[in-house]
Amino acid sequence: MPAITNDLPALAQSIKDWGRELGFQQVGIAGLDLAEHEQHLQRWLDAGYHGEMDYMGAHGSKRSHPEELVPGTLRVVSLRMDYLPGDTQMAQLLGQPEKAYVSRYALGRDYHKLIRKRVQQLAERIQQVIGPFGFRAFVDSAPVLEKAIAEKAGLGWIGKNTLILNRKAGSYFFLAELFVDLPLPEDPPHASEHCGRCSACLDICPTAAFVGPYVLDARRCISYLTIELKGPIPEDLRPLIGNRVFGCDDCQIVCPWNRFARASAEGDFKPRHNLDNAGLAELFRWDETHFLSSTEGSPLRRAGYERWLRNLAVGLGNAPSTIAVLEALQARRDDPSPLVREHVEWALEQHRTRQCSSL
Ligand code: SF4
Ligand code: SF4
Repeated sequence: MPAITNDLPALAQSIKDWGRELGFQQVGIAGLDLAEHEQHLQRWLDAGYHGEMDYMGAHGSKRSHPEELVPGTLRVVSLRMDYLPGDTQMAQLLGQPEKAYVSRYALGRDYHKLIRKRVQQLAERIQQVIGPFGFRAFVDSAPVLEKAIAEKAGLGWIGKNTLILNRKAGSYFFLAELFVDLPLPEDPPHASEHCGRCSACLDICPTAAFVGPYVLDARRCISYLTIELKGPIPEDLRPLIGNRVFGCDDCQIVCPWNRFARASAEGDFKPRHNLDNAGLAELFRWDETHFLSSTEGSPLRRAGYERWLRNLAVGLGNAPSTIAVLEALQARRDDPSPLVREHVEWALEQHRTRQCSSL
């Protein structure tokens, strides 16, 4: 066995250095005791806050026991990759109700492929030095408590907005995990949290989705409503969604720690198809072929064409009553999807009600 496996602290340091060379901004090593987070997850599931995301409760105890998910696992290498694509004028766009707001993480190419490849490269690099070892890579995969692992690996603390926050990098980053069967030294967990008396994220949430600090009722969260939810969006929440058509960043935009977020140098995360500055009416005119070609390799594919139109209809219902907005809605009154038609009718009704009340 190569000498470096006898010097585990040196191997741990090398893994961090290689991770940074591969484009990750931070790398930490966590042990496997996630008991505290397991209880938090169970309370959250018991309250039904996960809505239709049944996968959150699936896989039994494997989610909080990495060694059950991948037998032989001894440590988890947690990795962070920043994604903010430069100056994306987030607040300005949210203030232009005829424009579509797409969550900043979803403007470019799908991150899963790029990050998985890099984690795989890291594993191969380790293998070149120490020989065969057991590993498995995860990127945003359902049965992994990625935020709990990141906190344990020292990457940051879980903020009141339920995201991992880092004092030097804010929260605009993806997380990935490399499960390994190596007894590497663990990094100290992020012991202190730095939210203090701030509650900006809880106060700004357009749909009041936080039950309290650190507890999100996903059923009210715009990210859930526009991406995960398959059926109709509850009517009482539609006016609160504004122009957010795929995800929501408000509880990150307002977070003071995001003053320290840095733009990503990854070309894949740069906005494509003018999605950082497109009008709702313009996007609503895309036919399915255009949608499929424009969202190839993009996280937007996750919602699918029907839900994309559903979300845009809600945005158009909340937009000013311009000719372009009304024409776009009228043109889809006979859409083949009952889901889309119902949202279009709701949107047109919003405009009728507003026009009548202004008379
Ligand atoms: S993503 Fe938006 S809707 Fe969801 S909790 Fe944050 S601010 Fe609220
Ligand atoms: S906005 Fe304030 S309370 Fe919310 S996560 Fe950021 S620092 Fe914590």
